[in-house]
Amino acid sequence: APRKLAAGNWKMNGDLAALAEIDAMLEAAAASECEVLLCPPAPLIQAMKARIGEGSIAVGGQDCHASVSGAHTGDVSAMLLRDVGADYVILGHSERRADHGESDADVAAKAVATHEAGLTAIICVGETEAQRDSDETLNVIAAQLAGSLPTGATAANTVIAYEPVWAIGTGRTPTTGQIAEVHALMRDKLRGVIADADDVRLLYGGSVKPGNATEIFAIANVDGALVGGASLKATDFGPIMAAL
Ligand code: 13P
Repeated sequence: APRKLAAGNWKMNGDLAALAEIDAMLEAAAASECEVLLCPPAPLIQAMKARIGEGSIAVGGQDCHASVSGAHTGDVSAMLLRDVGADYVILGHSERRADHGESDADVAAKAVATHEAGLTAIICVGETEAQRDSDETLNVIAAQLAGSLPTGATAANTVIAYEPVWAIGTGRTPTTGQIAEVHALMRDKLRGVIADADDVRLLYGGSVKPGNATEIFAIANVDGALVGGASLKATDFGPIMAAL
């Protein structure tokens, strides 16, 4: 089984002062069995990386453009993320799909650029509450996965995150059975297209907290978590690392 990944997505939160959390986060990461990743807003990546130094926390971006450079005001390339210290990029988060109209094809193109830059892509999928209520979850996840996964994906350069839209920031989570069902489907679909599919890390995301992390991480095919609110403070993220 692959080494588990505790990934924190700071979203549009945090600032230079918030990097004071890093020292306690490094202590927790050093004591943890899992790989730890923090994805702050892009302007903080370089300073966060500097603060981490030789410590065992990786840094990542929350999005990138599909091109290496050019006339794309406000966008950031995967190459630049790499240049300032990132090893990962989150792609296709539901907030980007909703706020910026990102399609599966957009996500796949960004994933190609991510791989070309030498970074690992964390590709996000997840159903809305309406889709779950109408029993479309498995079809939605299968379609998003098929459409968002680039050719050339391997266990080394790709991580998948299952984040039900209705579980993000709500304090609500699927049942362990519901998470297991989706993760089993994702594993099965990956086996059809990736040679080392069994080693691809499949993260669960959506209201992961210290209080539910142990239960969630025990589910089959759950190889880590993508954590939003509870990744901002070491007092929350540390115990989540310890639960993995
Ligand atoms: P919360 O952990 O705040 O629910 O956010 C989950 C998420 O969207 C991580 O990418």
